[in-house]
Amino acid sequence: MSKEVKPESVSLYSVSAAATPEQEAVCIFGTGDLGRSLGQRLLQSGYRLVYGSRRPHSCGPIPPGVQVMSHEIAARSASLVFVCVHREHYDFLETLAPHLKGKVLVDVSNNLKKNMYPEANAEFLRRLIPGALVVKAFNTLSAWALQNGPSDANRQVYLCGNSSEAKQAVAEIATKLGFNVQDRGSLSAARELEDFPLQLFPEWRLPMHLTIGLTAFFFFYLLVRDVIFAYVDQGKDNSFRIMVSLANKVFPIVSLILLSLCYLPGVIAAFLQLYRGTKYKRFPDWLDRWMLCRKQLGLIALALASLHVLYTLIIPIRYYVRFRLAANTISQIKENKTSVFDTTMGWRTDSYYSMGILGFGLYLLLGIASLPSVSNALSWREFSFIQSKLGYLTLFFCTFHTYLYGWDKFLFISYYKWYTPPGYMLCLVVPSVVLLLKLLLLLPCVDKSLIRIRQGWERTDPEDDSKKSLLAKDCQKL
Ligand code: NAP
Repeated sequence: MSKEVKPESVSLYSVSAAATPEQEAVCIFGTGDLGRSLGQRLLQSGYRLVYGSRRPHSCGPIPPGVQVMSHEIAARSASLVFVCVHREHYDFLETLAPHLKGKVLVDVSNNLKKNMYPEANAEFLRRLIPGALVVKAFNTLSAWALQNGPSDANRQVYLCGNSSEAKQAVAEIATKLGFNVQDRGSLSAARELEDFPLQLFPEWRLPMHLTIGLTAFFFFYLLVRDVIFAYVDQGKDNSFRIMVSLANKVFPIVSLILLSLCYLPGVIAAFLQLYRGTKYKRFPDWLDRWMLCRKQLGLIALALASLHVLYTLIIPIRYYVRFRLAANTISQIKENKTSVFDTTMGWRTDSYYSMGILGFGLYLLLGIASLPSVSNALSWREFSFIQSKLGYLTLFFCTFHTYLYGWDKFLFISYYKWYTPPGYMLCLVVPSVVLLLKLLLLLPCVDKSLIRIRQGWERTDPEDDSKKSLLAKDCQKL
């Protein structure tokens, strides 16, 4: 009786048709989500592919035209193996050590949280199979991103490993797949790469903390001034103001401060360069970090400004406003009085609204220009014109809008309830300082020096020079 022998490999499609002799063979262990997506991209880029699976005959759906084999046979048929298996199941690889000797093993694994294991997954893999050349790569991409191809948001493939030949082989594949490769050094960087996908909006953390802090501060500040003061001083219940009036004060205040905080680090950096007389000295870390989150600060500022616009649009339909208007009209009728049109007030309010609209329009433009799809279409000069020149113009319009809102209220003591200035006065401090410093930088003599420094000119310190010449003399004597 002939026993039916299952072949060790199965083809789900006519392999001979798909593979040509010049195609390189690449092996993927694991037919799960990542293995499948990666396989699809490799096939599209012209690689010959083999899968190694626990169940070559009954694995899940895989790209058509690919061979699925036992791990052992698959490992033998390629010199580069992607291990698309969770670290928890790496034990099976130990038995394959003789077949993986000298081969490039790509570790794509991630963990559920930081410091789950004493060593990085890739280092664990190297310990399991000391004869293999382990490279950590592709772990920062999701299966979804791999399937859809590189996009602006995930164009990078980070890799690290101890063998430069092995890294070169993986880098070539990543480049052929359309990704940009960033070599992060030896395998000791693997833990850092494994922590990447676990980060939650890292560049938004500082702007979010700042926004929450400022919002909380101004909310309580205005609550004391607008609600608690009225209750204590006049016995009036103004608590209904919290929902719209207070919100419509806090959001623009925080928005304007955040917008000015986008431009303050640039101004500080310019003064630092002027003071140092060179652009070749590193900025302090805090300034670097601040400059790196300017885009996020600007986008949050734009979101808050949009809320301010929406709150302002509903003012005419508010019950409180309609009641006050009606009461005013009725009292004028009763007293047979007509209020006279105040041209100054007309100018003031129109200018105030006009500045606000212009500021918000430019705000929107800045936000749109910061979208990767738009900024990628702009030259560096166009991008910096919008973000810098138009950015300062936006800050100017919004600051002027706030000054016009305050008008002459700055001069009357009655507005300083419990000796505290109104919120909008407080929020004018930072933008006014930024605009003033920017004006100083625009002075021709200052601007000229800054341009020279930014073009590479350095002001040598006479003290340094004398030290250098002394050193040179000492060296000559020696
Ligand atoms: P998955 O869908 O669960 O697939 C894992 C595959 O591993 C399974 O399909 C199975 O393939 C194999 N496997 C399961 N248990 C095994 C065992 N005991 N022994 C040997 N092989 C076993 O997982 P995945 O999402 O593809 O993730 C695979 C690896 O890629 C993980 O390390 C993950 O951290 C990493 N990663 C995933 C993504 C993603 O978006 N999914 C992104 C970046 C990195 P067979 O049945 O064919 O043997």
